[in-house]
Amino acid sequence: MARSWDVIVVGAGPGGSTAAYDLATAGAEVLLVDRAEFPRDKPCGGGVLISAVNLLPYSLDAVTEQTIASFRVRYKRSWEFEHHYHEPLAIMTQRSRLDAFMVERAVEVGAEFRDGSPVRGIEGTSLSLANGDNHRADAVIAADGANGIVRRALGLPRLRGAVALEGNADRSRQTAGERWSDAVGLELGSMPGGYGWVFPKGDHCNVGLGGFPAVAPTLRDELSKYAGCESFDGGSLTELRGHHLPLRDPDSALVSGQTAFVGDAAGLVDPLSGEGIGNAIRSGQLAADAARDLIAGESTDFSSYQSAIEAEIEPELRVARQLQALFHQSPWPYVQLLRRSDRFWTAFCRIVRGESTYTSFQSRLGPAKALVDVAAGFAERRGRRTAAWQDGS
Ligand SMILES: Cc1cc2nc3c(=O)[nH]c(=O)nc-3n(C[C@H](O)[C@H](O)[C@H](O)COP(=O)(O)OP(=O)(O)OC[C@H]3O[C@@H](n4cnc5c(N)ncnc54)[C@H](O)[C@@H]3O)c2cc1C
Repeated sequence: MARSWDVIVVGAGPGGSTAAYDLATAGAEVLLVDRAEFPRDKPCGGGVLISAVNLLPYSLDAVTEQTIASFRVRYKRSWEFEHHYHEPLAIMTQRSRLDAFMVERAVEVGAEFRDGSPVRGIEGTSLSLANGDNHRADAVIAADGANGIVRRALGLPRLRGAVALEGNADRSRQTAGERWSDAVGLELGSMPGGYGWVFPKGDHCNVGLGGFPAVAPTLRDELSKYAGCESFDGGSLTELRGHHLPLRDPDSALVSGQTAFVGDAAGLVDPLSGEGIGNAIRSGQLAADAARDLIAGESTDFSSYQSAIEAEIEPELRVARQLQALFHQSPWPYVQLLRRSDRFWTAFCRIVRGESTYTSFQSRLGPAKALVDVAAGFAERRGRRTAAWQDGS
């Protein structure tokens, strides 16, 4: 069977369902396809920052398991401190619930959803599904995640990235379960290029670790040690899952003709925090805006989407890359700053809530920004050399 659509969206994570929602709301004929049967789970901590929650035109209350306003930060598996903010900082959800809920919103406004439908082949804007159906559209939005097919099929290079491993601890059977009733945990300073986390959910805590690709072989052992240090039984974590977090280089392709890449398929994960849901949603919205112009005949390709990402998201990623390189070169002073400086903690919370940005934080450094640029350039080069050496590349 062959059918034509205005837009085909490949992948129904937060990026794809947001794009489908916006396009269907604007009256476009949209096909949203996903290879998985929904509801499906996905390796993810399931923490959604308030900055991301506020991007959506609908509430996530129905899939929120806990709202968080406190961070408990541990340094190198030893001492810890806790900070509280007067407003919510993040919600905790489960991806099986969040993603199914977001798809339902897109379907409600008119998007056609086909789950259990892997895309097998792509030629221009024509797609073939595993069941033999063929579909064509004026535009394609590739929201097919870190290991998606569209990037590969169009011959674009694989994105570099970080790695992470996470598992679940049943709260009722863990001595630590009570401790996590109102805070998320971060563990800083132990994992090169990353950090550890404890994210509390209704009946369990999600415990995870991430870092440079070179740490992949150590992740299982390190996760067990970290869980033990937080009074969980490291050996009893269930549903352990590892995954790749794609990080774009400043010149990685965002567009190929009438195809736009969003979210993880474009490598838009924040390299400092590993948070990717916010940029998946925002890039889905920007791609939908550009697709509307394309199907209305007001443009011939997705170059306006490329410009929008370069103006809005790439500057944030650039500062996040710098902060990530500086932090991992010597974490201690930054952890101390977070621990002791109310101004620094407030600046962090305002970014997490979307009331401020990395770029405005950086511009407040005034003349010291030039020094930070030099130090960050040095740290980034050093980080790349270390990663290349550790990768054996
Ligand atoms: C361990 C770990 C923990 C994380 N924790 C957090 C966190 O707490 N908070 C946060 O903000 N971010 C977190 N992230 C990052 C976050 O998960 C991603 O950035 C986010 O899911 C990106 O959304 P997306 O819509 O771009 O892609 P995805 O959510 O990955 O969705 C892609 C979809 O495409 C589908 N697909 C793939 N191939 C095909 C195909 N051939 N045909 C059809 N469909 C296809 C997949 O089935 C999937 O449903 C974490 C990542 C990892 C690995």
